[in-house]
Amino acid sequence: MTIKTIGFVAHDEKKSELVGWVEKNQAKLEQLSILSTGTTGGLIQEKCPQLSIQRLKSGPLGGDQQLGAAICEDRLDAMVFFIDPLSPHPHDVDVKALLRLAILYNVPFACNLASADALLNLL
Ligand code: PGA
Repeated sequence: MTIKTIGFVAHDEKKSELVGWVEKNQAKLEQLSILSTGTTGGLIQEKCPQLSIQRLKSGPLGGDQQLGAAICEDRLDAMVFFIDPLSPHPHDVDVKALLRLAILYNVPFACNLASADALLNLL
């Protein structure tokens, strides 16, 4: 499996965790193209200006669906989505749809620190 493009999303309570993970692993991630939902992508770009990040719409405004479309169109090889398991989200159906497409297209999907670390081994 070759990973060239990776998607990043984090729910609000998980954003600092994802930004910290990206910062820690930026040397490895520099070789990838990155797609990210709007707010998450902005926070990562602030901390890691050397990464090449294409920012999509914010998740609740359709960004998660844009990532799903990228999976369908073979433009996204892996996903890191730090899901907050303790809060309800109005766009929960979009998260579920994105996860369904990742399963359907056999795209690796990391949803917490341990699985994101494991995904790095595929790079
Ligand atoms: P955001 O979207 O990065 O624009 O906050 C994340 C989400 O799907 O909640």
